[in-house]
Amino acid sequence: MSYVNMNGILIKARNNKVAVGAFNIVNYLTAKAVVEVAEELDQPLILQTSVKTVKAFGIDEMIGFLKPIVDNAKVDVALHLDHSTDVEFTKACIDGGWSSVMYDGSQLPLKENIKNTQEIVAYARPRNVSVEGELGAIVGVEDDIFVKEGDSAHANPNDCRVFLNETDVDAFAPAIGTAHGVYKGEIKLDYDLFEEINGFAKCPLVLHGGTGLSDAMFHRLIALGAAKVNISTAIKIAYCQGMRSFMEINPDKNDPLKLDAYTKEAVKKVVEKHIRFFSRID
Ligand SMILES: [Zn+2]
Repeated sequence: MSYVNMNGILIKARNNKVAVGAFNIVNYLTAKAVVEVAEELDQPLILQTSVKTVKAFGIDEMIGFLKPIVDNAKVDVALHLDHSTDVEFTKACIDGGWSSVMYDGSQLPLKENIKNTQEIVAYARPRNVSVEGELGAIVGVEDDIFVKEGDSAHANPNDCRVFLNETDVDAFAPAIGTAHGVYKGEIKLDYDLFEEINGFAKCPLVLHGGTGLSDAMFHRLIALGAAKVNISTAIKIAYCQGMRSFMEINPDKNDPLKLDAYTKEAVKKVVEKHIRFFSRID
């Protein structure tokens, strides 16, 4: 199969009422783990990188080790930049080789968000790169974007119509009450708002803050049209706890390859659970 942008796989998912998992990877090991599971289950995949991760490696070095993984994958894989608030950095990742980007102007006034998103769409489209946009505030911490819980602003449907018409993004993330990181307290999601937006949005919708949602919540949102579900925190937890668990079981085994193999399996287990659920595979 091939290295693709998000468009084909998301439209197909939306039509089939399933979702494509978008997993935030942090290095070679996690990227390999996610791709291997997608291949084993024969499902398309979105490999996602946060701005912080890309900056830690540098654009060229990161694409240098990711490109062979996605090029050689046996399933369709998109490489997507998550939550970029910087127009120039977003363009640099498009130039660097990402097949998809999210420009997140959700903290800006609507007009400015539209203007910047339009600029990214105009830059990305001729290069065959897909663009995700966002409206409303998804609470929690994502990279350096911190949104306080009280500031949680659900997307306004009228603003969504204007944003979608003006920007013509390929995928859209409206805030409906999900949060980044680990949820504190009761999760309150606005399903009606999600359904309403999906009703008029030409492009597939994206669900952020997937870690911690119950199976029933995922099920309902995917049935209502969520075609891309972002999973980040669950990968971080599986990675760190996997390492810890190996060292607890083998305190004197200073064998990096065995440690990596064990950790990769821990990450794969979490990814497999999510892809099976999103693609409705038993
Ligand atoms: Zn997000």
